[in-house]
Amino acid sequence: MALHDILTRMTPKVLDGTAIAAEIKAEVRHSVEALAHRGIVPGLAVVLVGSDPASEVYVRNKVKSSGELGIRSLLLTPAADITEAKLLALLAELNVCEDIDGILVQLPLPKHIETRRILEAVDPGKDVDGFHPVNVGRLQIGQESLVPCTPAGIMQVLHRSGIPIAGRDCVMVGRSDIVGKPASTMLLNEGATVAVCHKGTRDLAAYTQRAEILVVATGVPGLIQPEMVTPGAVLIDVGINRLDRAADVERFFPADEGRRATFAKRGFVLMGDIDPRCYERSSAYTPVPGGVGALTIAMLMHNTVKAARMRRGLA
Ligand code: NAD
Repeated sequence: MALHDILTRMTPKVLDGTAIAAEIKAEVRHSVEALAHRGIVPGLAVVLVGSDPASEVYVRNKVKSSGELGIRSLLLTPAADITEAKLLALLAELNVCEDIDGILVQLPLPKHIETRRILEAVDPGKDVDGFHPVNVGRLQIGQESLVPCTPAGIMQVLHRSGIPIAGRDCVMVGRSDIVGKPASTMLLNEGATVAVCHKGTRDLAAYTQRAEILVVATGVPGLIQPEMVTPGAVLIDVGINRLDRAADVERFFPADEGRRATFAKRGFVLMGDIDPRCYERSSAYTPVPGGVGALTIAMLMHNTVKAARMRRGLA
């Protein structure tokens, strides 16, 4: 084997989510401009109940991205003690509002509100999070629909990085309704053989070791260890975890000066569910931060324009 081939094989490719997100946002901006020629400005309503600090940051970023791409956004911030009936009434108004194409209810909701009931009250045609049962069902049967943003982002990373999916052994670790289940369905719909693992899986490594594409969304920092990864696998890390103990930073990033400097400055660093020592065994991987996380808002913007087009029969 030529030295070049050996080196190419040995150097895993970093799948740059930030660059892919920028590409998608540029396409969205283009679509928004095309709609503007028809006198259409896509509108996104973001409903944030209460004042959870993490949710406030997410919502701010969504509103900011909308503005940058020419999407009109409407931020609604009812107090944490809003009744379920009032929140349902608000959604009913947004459902019939002509200027609104996408409706997003930021989760989690306060405990006295039943999340399922709220998500089901959003018009499926405006459901830019893809959480309504109608859209979940459409995804399941492979029908065009609005699909959840983070799993859609995972698929964009794979597609735009030229990673083939059909016929490949994929393992999805995590089975949440917002990431694991829809992501596994999308992979299956594209012809992969998919195993879905979760907290109750008895021998996780026996599955992950088979994976040509390993997608992990558990919220357990460093769950995936090097011996659980087959050489040459593609690693997609959805986990976003905050490490705020020096011992953990030492353990996961013993040689990463940059990360240790960030910890010294901010008191925490972010890491995924895949131990970074797995990277060298892979053919390609998404870093954390700067991987899948960067795609979610781009896909929300994409879904908003898609909803605007679908509602007018333009899709
Ligand atoms: P969740 O808590 O709803 O689900 C976690 C899943 O992981 C469950 O299905 C559980 O069975 C499984 N799991 C937990 N421990 C496990 C273990 N030891 N072995 C095997 N499986 C295990 O979480 P979620 O909402 O799907 O999010 C998962 C991670 O992805 C979190 O870190 C979250 O912050 C991150 N996330 C990122 C984005 C983004 O990038 N924008 C979006 C959503 C979630």
